[in-house]
Amino acid sequence: MSSKKNKALIIGAGPAGLTAGIELLKTGNFEATVLERDNVIGGLARTTEYRGCRYDIGPHHFITSSEKIETWWKDLMQGDFLEHKRFTRIYYNNHFFNYPLEPINVLEGLSLWECLRCMVSYIRYRLFPIKKVRSFQDWVTNKFGYHLFSIFFKTYTEKVWGIECSQISSDWAAQRISGFSLSKAIFFAFFGRFYKKNKPRTIRDDFYYPSKGAGTLWEKAANWLQSFEGGSVHLNQDVVSLEHDGKKIVAVHAQDKRSTSGVQTLARYDADYFFSTMPLRTLIKSLDPLPPDIIINAANSLQYRGLITVNLIVNKTAICPDHWLYVHEKKVKMGRIGNMNNFSMGMVDHPGHTALSLEYFAFVGEAFWLKTEQELVEIAKLELEKIGLLKADEVLDGMVMKTAEAYPLYDEHYKEHLSTVLNYLGTFSNLELMGRNGLHRYNNMDIAMLSAISAVDKVLEKEKTVVRPVDATIRSSAL
Ligand SMILES: Cc1cc2nc3c(=O)[nH]c(=O)nc-3n(C[C@H](O)[C@H](O)[C@H](O)COP(=O)(O)OP(=O)(O)OC[C@H]3O[C@@H](n4cnc5c(N)ncnc54)[C@H](O)[C@@H]3O)c2cc1C
Repeated sequence: MSSKKNKALIIGAGPAGLTAGIELLKTGNFEATVLERDNVIGGLARTTEYRGCRYDIGPHHFITSSEKIETWWKDLMQGDFLEHKRFTRIYYNNHFFNYPLEPINVLEGLSLWECLRCMVSYIRYRLFPIKKVRSFQDWVTNKFGYHLFSIFFKTYTEKVWGIECSQISSDWAAQRISGFSLSKAIFFAFFGRFYKKNKPRTIRDDFYYPSKGAGTLWEKAANWLQSFEGGSVHLNQDVVSLEHDGKKIVAVHAQDKRSTSGVQTLARYDADYFFSTMPLRTLIKSLDPLPPDIIINAANSLQYRGLITVNLIVNKTAICPDHWLYVHEKKVKMGRIGNMNNFSMGMVDHPGHTALSLEYFAFVGEAFWLKTEQELVEIAKLELEKIGLLKADEVLDGMVMKTAEAYPLYDEHYKEHLSTVLNYLGTFSNLELMGRNGLHRYNNMDIAMLSAISAVDKVLEKEKTVVRPVDATIRSSAL
């Protein structure tokens, strides 16, 4: 006779939520229900189709140093995983700089005077570094010198974050560009091919991509999850409250977003364990009863940067050879262009067209955020013409996606607020936090997945479930 299974309730069908569900179901000792507020799978890693073209929320490349994660992805994609060598450039001052920086290319793009200023500033900060490194600006200046920082880091970073680099925590630089230094960049520019394995993550140039977009991998993951007995994913279920008794979460209540009656009918889901990838600021405010004011204030201080992607269909090919083109130029507002054709021709409706995705950053509610789809498409067309990539009338059509909580913000004070929030949530013995916004960590997909695996391991440890008895191979029905 089989013993009763534990019930797990997972908030969010993004990479972390789906990974947690699958890893729990593999044990054979859990049922896993995933609730997703949107009507699509994949969270920030979804892919959306528009008139035959396909767009991620910013093209998502698959890269990891974890063998486990790489195997997970490859097993799921069953060969439909294109392998690419990354090609990325920075557009600045009417010149395209290869990224990672290459000495000769930098010399070509900057005047001799500018190069000299970079060298002097680099040596100055290597010899006399800023002692108390607080901000992103301090951290990068110490590594590269102020002049290189101001050319290659300042404008783009400030476009993304919407605050000055001196107000961004140094944690962000340490997390995103750790292991990277000018000397290493130059070393890898010349000798990189001989030392592929030891390349820092920021300089790795090989990656995988599913032929029909990043989101297809997560759709397959959702199918895989639902192929297990007791595994289910429910879309359009917005978790609006988490009922608790002070020590444990008892149930969550979800609003069906398809409901048009105006009557709020909440579905109640109880469980033994709860896993959350929802943004911490919302999670705290959804607790029922509410936590003390000090916790709510800390959660309210956690900020997010919104992303607007303007996705265009262009009646032209060979616009740029890049996967991503970083636009540091101040004369335009766009921050990055993703050329979907270069990820996969499966992303474009016609071989004579290009699917371009332009990234703009804004805080929710600010004037730029409130612009209409038509206004944003017009701005994007004009900006592409301004930087000389194409003529505005070569754009056939466009659509806009707005993502409110795309980037958990690392401002100067986020750490104190985050630790207040995490300490409080840590008092619930059956609540596990994971993923990007679920931990307020600027994570890529692989790290979000690893955080889910570690959340699951914690629960298995509590349950002393060490065996994974179920046949966990991916069933053909899931693919
Ligand atoms: C522009 C951009 C480019 C990126 N590029 C890459 C890349 O190239 N490679 C890479 O590896 N990573 C990339 N990332 C990061 C990647 O998207 C994330 O690491 C990953 O999606 C995090 O997974 P997650 O499950 O933690 O969170 P999410 O993907 O945010 O998923 C969380 C899910 O929870 C749902 N949810 C939230 N609140 C509720 C609620 N109340 N009720 C129900 N559901 C809820 C959301 O709708 C969402 O579907 C990029 C991110 C951005 C923004």
